[in-house]
Amino acid sequence: MKLETKCIQAGYEPKNGESRMIPLIQSTTFKYDSSEEMGKLFDLEASGYFYSRLQNPTNDMVAAKIAALEGGTAAMLTSSGQAASFFAVFNIATAGDHVVASTAIYGGTYNLFNVTMKKMGIDFTFVDPDCTDEELEAAFKPNTKAVFGETIANPALIVFDIERFAKAAHAHGVPLIIDNTFATPVNCRPFEWGADIVTHSTTKYMDGHDVAVGGAVVDSGKFDWNKYADKFPGLTTPDESYHGITYTERFGLEGAYITKATAQLMRDLGSIQSPQDAFYLNMGLESLPVRVERHCSNAQKVAEFLEGHEKVAWVNYPGLPSNKYYERAKKYMPNGTTGVISFGVKGGRAAAEEFMRHLKVAMIATHVADAHTCVLHPASSTHRQLSDEELAASGVGADLIRLSVGIENVEDIIDDIANALAQV
Ligand SMILES: *Cc1c(COP(=O)(O)O)cnc(C)c1O
Repeated sequence: MKLETKCIQAGYEPKNGESRMIPLIQSTTFKYDSSEEMGKLFDLEASGYFYSRLQNPTNDMVAAKIAALEGGTAAMLTSSGQAASFFAVFNIATAGDHVVASTAIYGGTYNLFNVTMKKMGIDFTFVDPDCTDEELEAAFKPNTKAVFGETIANPALIVFDIERFAKAAHAHGVPLIIDNTFATPVNCRPFEWGADIVTHSTTKYMDGHDVAVGGAVVDSGKFDWNKYADKFPGLTTPDESYHGITYTERFGLEGAYITKATAQLMRDLGSIQSPQDAFYLNMGLESLPVRVERHCSNAQKVAEFLEGHEKVAWVNYPGLPSNKYYERAKKYMPNGTTGVISFGVKGGRAAAEEFMRHLKVAMIATHVADAHTCVLHPASSTHRQLSDEELAASGVGADLIRLSVGIENVEDIIDDIANALAQV
């Protein structure tokens, strides 16, 4: 099946007389005929459902669809993109371990790594995504367990050189984790470029309608945990909390990582997506390719308009030939990049604030990547917890306006921007 078909049909095959839509199983618990049968589930000897804090059939069908879209072998839904990033890393790195991460990542992820996970004893080294080979090499330590980057950084819009970082990670015997939220599998499938694990904030394009916060973790099934067994004992040695099963032995490379994340992390932390939200997410996924195509064509026109406007100081959109990442974007995302643009209005912070005051179609919201055009000035809102140095390091200047181009008529979006600019 091609991607558009998978968006509609993957993850669920109704049998004779069954609902055509992925069924919403809004139930916390599941009934069994005998305690022995239920016991088999608890021992991971049989697959099935017993409690929706760990797994729910609706979630699993939607996760299977996302796995199919990314070309992975297994996936899980989480309560948010933040939970997905946390699970993806914490599943293989624990106190005393170290992770190499790109500086060009979502501000919330940066905070999660640099503050909260550091408190948990996990050490992070942040590297510029365009660092030299020597700098990248120097970032690795004997206790490094993963490398983390973002396909197109929110909001810096830096395009990550997935292939290069995958090679470096693999040379050190660790997986590359990619947050593919902004590109979506419609525009980029990181596994095709060597990435091993993909995360999503499904809150963005995948849901696409502003209705449900959620996340996903997808495994390519390709990383050979057994080859580096000493680095990943959680996957390659017996889990005493599950009667001594070894995840790689029991579930193979294709299932070990997600099964461990479900059996241990979801069991203990319970950050699962609600089945109702998974149901909404599935509806978003059905139209994802159509919407992403329109987001990208609208954004391209808006970016070109901004680039030609005398009151605009600079425009950052990887679809513009003038962009530093244009060639890299063409390589990884030949059909389009994303619907998000950043730019600066001449006159800096004050002009930016004035511009924001006159927008009518574009709504001020912390959100990005859904059907509605939204606009944000990060330095005075989402990113205010970061210092000036941290802002600069994550590629977000104090004058930056982030515009998430929706799927409204592009002429209305451009007229709105033109009007607001006229009043600055
Ligand atoms: C929004 C976002 C996140 C966090 O996702 P939530 O669903 O808000 O928790 C992570 N990564 C990227 C790239 C995002 O845009």
